[in-house]
This record gives sequence, C-alpha cells and structure tokens, in this order.
Amino acid sequence: MGKQMSNKVILVILDGLNYQVGRACMGFTQALCEQGMARLYKVQCELPSMSRPLYECILTGVTPVESGIVHNHVSRNSNQQSVFSLARANGLRTAAAAYHWISELYNRTPWDAARDRHTDDESQLIQHGMFYSVDHYPDCHLFNDAEYLRRRFDPDFLLVHPMNIDDAGHKAGLDSAKYRNTTRHTDISLSEYLPRWIEAGYQILITADHGMNDDKSHGGLLSEERDVPLWVIGDAFSLMEAEPLQTDICGTLCQLLGTPHDKPLCRELLK
Ligand SMILES: [Zn+2]
Repeated sequence: MGKQMSNKVILVILDGLNYQVGRACMGFTQALCEQGMARLYKVQCELPSMSRPLYECILTGVTPVESGIVHNHVSRNSNQQSVFSLARANGLRTAAAAYHWISELYNRTPWDAARDRHTDDESQLIQHGMFYSVDHYPDCHLFNDAEYLRRRFDPDFLLVHPMNIDDAGHKAGLDSAKYRNTTRHTDISLSEYLPRWIEAGYQILITADHGMNDDKSHGGLLSEERDVPLWVIGDAFSLMEAEPLQTDICGTLCQLLGTPHDKPLCRELLK
C-alpha cells in the first residue's frame, strides 16, 4: 500500500447483472478497459444469491449467514458497521440513489415513502437519499437522481443503485433479448455520467449483487447466478491481476475513502 488515501468514491450496484452479460453488453464500460482506464474482474457473490442479503454483504463486508440478513424480507436495520457508518464516524458526507431496502438497512425501517423517499437528514447514516420502491423505476431517472445528489451535496461516498436489469431478468430470463438490451441501455446511461465522474476525480466501482438464471430468478449456486462483474475506474486502482471477493468491497471502499476500518479488503486492487 502506498500513501494514506482520501478519495471521493462512487459505488454503482447494477442489480442482477450476470458477469457474462455484463462483459458482452456493457460496450462503453468495456471501452474504458480497452483504453487502459478501467479493469473488469470476475467476483463470485456470496450465498444466498439474493438482493437484500448481498446489499448488506457489499456494504458491510459481512456474509449473509453472519449478518442475519438471509432473505429479502428481513426488514430491519443492519447491526453491522457499514461503509456508511464508518464514513460518518470519520466525518464524511454520504448519499445514495437506491432501492428502498437500502434505506431500510441503514436509515429507517419500515419504509415510509412520504418520509423516506427524499431524505435530507444529517443524523442518518445515509444523509442525502433519493430512494424508490418499484422495480421498474427507470434507470435513466435513477442516474439523474444520483447526479443531482452528487452536484447538490458533493458527497464523499455516493451509492448508485439501478434496478432495471434485475427487473428485465425476472420478466424474460437470463438468455433473453430483454435482459441483454436492458443491460446495453443501462450502459448507455453510464456513458453519460462516467466521463463526468472521472473528470471530477472520483474513484468508481461498478458491480452487481447477484446474477440471473434462465428460470427468471436467482438465489442459488449456478454460475450464472453467482458470477458478477466488478469494474474499477480511477487513478487509485492498480488495474493489476487480482481476485477480489464480494466481502472485500466494503473494506476497499473504506481504504479509498481514507476511513479507519477493520474490514477485509483486496489490496491488489489498489496502487
Ligand atoms: Zn432479483
């Protein structure tokens, strides 16, 4: 490890994006790799390969079995240290444009749309939030929400979490034009914002909670459910060979932010 880092960081979780489809359909994101500005890693998600357990895994570095967030309807606050709580303890500013389960895990639960959909509350772990609660909330609007939060509040850590790829997979399955085309469409949205974020000096990670299967679901051990992409973009990354685990993401985020933590991390990802 080099010098103590203190970066602004954006984490994008593309809900339900399988590794192979991400690699094949994310044309702009892959262009950054071909230009030597990014690198794609394959990550195997923890089990069960379901959303809420793996949001908690990505954001705390703790597996579902250990965190107790073992299925999608465990509706309680996280009882782990998260990238949000560690960033706040270090005086950093946090924001998220994300599905409402993220608000339930780290801010308030149960979800109260009128209270929580637009959150501006310095006392919450996610201080500035725009949360949505339908799976077909358009990704293009979600990216707009995230960019609004970034420009308005200048967060140190911003979570960006669109849902349309997962929604397409549940409607049409992994091997479908709808799933692949939704992925291509989300990549176009990213191509609108990634250049601005790179220009502004952010360190950016793009990953998925879990993949998708041909039964229009996920939850088990099939490679198409478990293999997810991790792209890293920014000058703090080594872009060298590495084998990151999903449980390494939280510690890697904290390391980039310069926030003290006791989480596992993948040092090879960083310069
Ligand atoms: Zn899903």
